[in-house]
Amino acid sequence: QKPQPSDTAIAHSFTPKTIGRLAREVGLFSEEVEHYGTTRAKVRLEALNRLKTQPDGKYLVVTGITPTPLGEGTTTTTLGLAQALGAHLHVNSFACVRQPSQGSNFGVKGGAVGGGYSQVIPMEEVSLHLTSDTQAVMAASSLVVDTINARVLSESTQSDKVIKNNIIFLSGSVASEMMAVLALSTSLGDMTRRLARMVVAYSRKGKPVTTEDLGISGVLATLMRDAVKPSLMQTMEGTPVFVHTCPLSDIAQGNSSILADQIALKLVGPEGFVVTEAEGGAELGMEKFFDIKCRSSGLHPDVVVMVATVHGLKIHGGGPRDTVRERENKPWTLVCLSNVCLQNLTLLENGCSHLKRQLENARAFGLPVIVAINTFSTDTDAELGLVCEQAKLAGALEAVPCSHWAEGGAGAVALGQAVQRAAEIPHQMNFLYDLEMPIDDKIRAIAKSMYGAGDVELLPQAQQKVALFSKQGLGNLPICMAKTHLSLSHDPERKGVPTGFTLPIRDIHANLGAGFLYPLVGTLLSVTHMDAELEPDMEYMGM
Ligand code: ADP
Ligand code: MG
Repeated sequence: QKPQPSDTAIAHSFTPKTIGRLAREVGLFSEEVEHYGTTRAKVRLEALNRLKTQPDGKYLVVTGITPTPLGEGTTTTTLGLAQALGAHLHVNSFACVRQPSQGSNFGVKGGAVGGGYSQVIPMEEVSLHLTSDTQAVMAASSLVVDTINARVLSESTQSDKVIKNNIIFLSGSVASEMMAVLALSTSLGDMTRRLARMVVAYSRKGKPVTTEDLGISGVLATLMRDAVKPSLMQTMEGTPVFVHTCPLSDIAQGNSSILADQIALKLVGPEGFVVTEAEGGAELGMEKFFDIKCRSSGLHPDVVVMVATVHGLKIHGGGPRDTVRERENKPWTLVCLSNVCLQNLTLLENGCSHLKRQLENARAFGLPVIVAINTFSTDTDAELGLVCEQAKLAGALEAVPCSHWAEGGAGAVALGQAVQRAAEIPHQMNFLYDLEMPIDDKIRAIAKSMYGAGDVELLPQAQQKVALFSKQGLGNLPICMAKTHLSLSHDPERKGVPTGFTLPIRDIHANLGAGFLYPLVGTLLSVTHMDAELEPDMEYMGM
């Protein structure tokens, strides 16, 4: 069997249609489209207004089992499914994905959005600057930081007692909070109000300081006014894709933007489908998708697609984890230093208990769930058969092996048909918790029902924050757990279905622009983005 060419080589072998043509095909008017070169465009929010009486399409959310080192391919499956529906089953379809975050490697290492024959093209454009939204967020957060520094400097040179001792403490990561705001905004006005109420500093007395208090909320909204518009691109099969926003999946909600989903749902019309991805395992990204994103958007999804891989389940079943993936410019090669890629039905059956747990998590929200097995060349028929059988026993409506990585949309036609059937089933979506519940009860509800924790332990700092936030009237915000995505528990090493553990909450932060509280789970800094964080000093806050 000839190995598949690299993601880069495959991406380069397709020629995208012009963005003007794509925009026309999806039903956008030319005045609603702002071109960035010939294969990218921003869609103006006026389109949403024009289409507001149009019924929405079917709304699918793609989630997965807890990720393992070889990757489960949820983004690839999101794109593969959209291609299957659009290019092979001939219904309107749209994919909505997050923009790759430009970390220290500037997106170069990550390369593709999706993989194999299910990718967004042109790959360089989607993985680098795209339409400069990240740059807008960086500029806006630099403005906040510079303003605070300037204030602190000027106040320290003045003798007036009232002004002196004012702004001192910078709150969490401003850029991350702004990205979370962008992804949850439902209009330009909504974004402006959210930016204005962001708490970016604390006075020495512990009083929260917002961007409005600093007098910069208007400038911030101006800096971000283009970033709020979703960016239109396409898959290699010409299926439309919105690539918009990249809120972190730990201290933020990890889902792409509400506006992209809303516009796509209008554009596909009542017979069409929008496929959106919730990052990480179902207990994390999908829970936040429902309890934070859907609560803000008012949208009701129709079907959950749960991505699983045979090798991932074997790792959850106790299999070896010393597998690496070779990248560089060679064809994708799976290098298995151990036997995780060889047939092993015992390990796989053990690992299916993890799939069962994540299926229970997905079903807790009241929707039909379809399992998509993202097949790798090393999977055997016996293994695929076992996963299908176990998935159905665990309550999946259907379980479908798919090969969209190797074959594009054609490899996910059976998945598309399963999703079409599932979308016809009447259902009632529910949230996991009521907003009116006390903060610690909401945390407990997530920990027990999603993670399988025996109990939750709020460490002193977290207890103080519960009291503080309740006193400040913030008790009814939704919860955005900052937990590792590598385990159902707080310990990234514990695979499978950890049980009987007590989930430690070391602190709780508030992101008032986005409108959620984020508890920091675990006693160690397993959440990498938190390192440089500065804290309001509890002593000054009268606690
Ligand atoms: P996730 O969204 O779960 O993080 P991605 O969809 O981004 O995963 O895929 C991660 C990487 O794994 C991609 O580079 C992709 O090429 C590769 N990959 C995905 N599915 C397969 C598959 N079936 N076979 C081989 N490689 C795959
Ligand atoms: Mg992904």
